[in-house]
Amino acid sequence: ARLAYAFIGLGHLGGNLAASLLRNGFAVTVFDRDPSPIERLVALGATAARSPAEAAARVGNAITCLPSPKVSEAVLTGPDGLLDGLAAGGTWIEMSTNGRDEILRLSALALAKGVETLECPVTGGVHLAAVGKITALVGGDAALYERHRPAIEAMCAKSFLMGPVGSAAVIKVITNMLAFIHLVAAGEALMLAKQGGLDLAQAYHAIVASSGNSFVHETESQLVLNGSYDIGFTMDLALKDLGFALAMGKDFGVPLDLATRVNAIFEQGKEAYGGDAWSTRIVKLLEDAVGA
Ligand code: NAD
Repeated sequence: ARLAYAFIGLGHLGGNLAASLLRNGFAVTVFDRDPSPIERLVALGATAARSPAEAAARVGNAITCLPSPKVSEAVLTGPDGLLDGLAAGGTWIEMSTNGRDEILRLSALALAKGVETLECPVTGGVHLAAVGKITALVGGDAALYERHRPAIEAMCAKSFLMGPVGSAAVIKVITNMLAFIHLVAAGEALMLAKQGGLDLAQAYHAIVASSGNSFVHETESQLVLNGSYDIGFTMDLALKDLGFALAMGKDFGVPLDLATRVNAIFEQGKEAYGGDAWSTRIVKLLEDAVGA
């Protein structure tokens, strides 16, 4: 029989992941501090709970998708948190993006209560999550991964077991660092094309077919060109993840000149458009600078 899951954090990403579980026949008990996504998921077949503890107590396995390690810690260890609901032997699957130190610390708190952690940050963006095609980067025990693999595969097209807890955070932070560098690079490229008098749709397709193409250009430049910028991922989340990358660079003694510069650019972006603005607005910063 399929395992049942509590799902806490039904935002841009988590709401889509929980919907994929439901679509694939999993029983899901949901909680969010905001009632409106709970209603949306209940309409898709989820059961509502009044706290993380209540959601987890019903099913014994809990998934989280939350905006920061601070919030994950509160949901895990706070009053009516997951560790009040999960019995020893239960699993916490953390799908939020954390730094390595953060997930190691949080998983130790869970283990002290007999709860094992599978870190499972995902990559590919909201649009892929909505169709169950996002990629999972997994850190944890191999047998635990096998136990929860059916659920992971219901949400994700591909999954990579990277090693013990902490290893998925390392690769996740790396891939996001690359994505933010690529986004700024794609923005600079598009501005050059625009100021060079090119047809931007034609320039977009020419780059897709060129050596300078990237996943980010291919999937995000269109959002910039159509003026929606709607990536479902905010400036605040980008700054969180760039912060993890810079911390990793320090910890591992790797100079990160590009990430340092890109972090400063995103800080400017937050100042100009706010932390809740879509991360793709970073390209707007260039447009404003050029006056184009
Ligand atoms: P979001 O802000 O859209 O969603 C977060 C959800 O958590 C919201 O529904 C919010 O109400 C809820 N929440 C906040 N505090 C809470 C609390 N104390 N108790 C219960 N619920 C609470 O964020 P998101 O874009 O869904 O991102 C979530 C995580 O996934 C982040 O770590 C992010 O870095 C990561 N991520 C996001 C994307 C993406 O494309 N959006 C992609 C990969 C990874």
